[in-house]
Parts: sequence; C-alpha cells; structure tokens
Amino acid sequence: MGDSCGYIACDKCDFRQTLWVSGKRDTFAESIYCFDNGHISPVFKNKWWCHRCESVKDVEQIPSNGDVQNHLADIYTSLSDDKARRFLGRPTIEYYQRILAGSETWTQWARARKDPRCLTCGSQELTPIGLMNRNTMGRLDVAHPNCGGNLYLGEREMGIRASHPRKNNTTPIEYVRFAPDGLPIKESAAEEKPSSSGPSVFAWLAVIAAIALFYFAS
Ligand SMILES: [Zn+2]
Ligand SMILES: [Zn+2]
Repeated sequence: MGDSCGYIACDKCDFRQTLWVSGKRDTFAESIYCFDNGHISPVFKNKWWCHRCESVKDVEQIPSNGDVQNHLADIYTSLSDDKARRFLGRPTIEYYQRILAGSETWTQWARARKDPRCLTCGSQELTPIGLMNRNTMGRLDVAHPNCGGNLYLGEREMGIRASHPRKNNTTPIEYVRFAPDGLPIKESAAEEKPSSSGPSVFAWLAVIAAIALFYFAS
C-alpha cells in the first residue's frame, strides 16, 4: 500500500540510501545551466557514486552533440504541434522556447565541457554505478568505497505516504540553477540568512569567500 521505494544497500556494512519514492513529482523543478549571455540550457543527469558525498548522487551527464541536437529537435517538434502545446502548458512552452533560443550556446558548451561534476557538492571524483533505472535492480558496478562490500539497488515497500499535488500544466516551473561549469548557483546570502546578528553574518561571508576561492583555485 505504501509507495515503492528505490534504495541502495551494502551487503557488508549498514549503509542504506533511499534514491526515490515513487509517485508524481511534487514540484515542477527543472535544473538549468545559466550562461553569461542570458541563455539557459537543461542539465542532463546520471546517478553515479560521489566519493565526497559518499553516496549515489545526481551527476552531470555532458551530452554529445547528437544528444543536444536530438533534444532540440524533440522540443521543436512538440512546440510545432497545437495539441502538444495545449498539453505542455504555458510555463513549459516558455521554458522550451528559452532552450531553443540558447541552442547555439548549448551546442558550443557541450563540445567544450569535460569531466562531469556532482550536482550536490561539485566534486569530480565520481564513479558510474552501471545500473540506472527503476527496472534494472541488482549489484552496482562500484564496490562500497568505505568498506569494500557490494552495493545493491533494490526496491521495497517502505510505507512512505506522500501527498502529491495533481500535475497542473499552469504551475510555474521552479528552476534549480547551475553555472556552465556545473557548480550550483547559490541564492544570495542575504535571502538565506535574514536574521543573523552582525558577527555571524561576517563569519558566513568569510566561509562563502573561502569556498569561492577554493573552487576558483581548483
Ligand atoms: Zn559498506
Ligand atoms: Zn558530491
């Protein structure tokens, strides 16, 4: 009765990670790259092992030129079809139009980018896990780095119940923004920490500056 749940388990230690809870999406979020010229493009994702996060995470999938052209052609086709447009709804149509407008930027970027990053922490120390969809359960290609055990992707009833709003094609899309190099774009510190006292604001700024320096230097 509960929603099914994809999870990863280690056969040697007690590592467990929930990957997804089945059901409709409860937000209408799209991950996008934001380019300096104002263009955007979609972020393609794989689930790989991130050695810094010590778990399976969403990782950039750098598309081939063919992947980009196919995706653009699919978008162009659906935008050209009146029936498809009614199904998509205004927010998605506008999102697709922005992707088409940035197609040249996206194409050039895809040719230049190498070495995917973890979309959570930015690390490039990543290992493909081999299995990646809900229909391919079994042992992953990567051993559990922490203990050397085998990692298995499985499914079980967890009794998790989540109420998901009905899909509504007029719901605004919530964008999750990434820089062209795959690093998350943080919302401004002022918005995130509105009520900090003086010294801790400066402490936060120092931490953020240190992180920024680290990434620019690496
Ligand atoms: Zn383990
Ligand atoms: Zn990570």
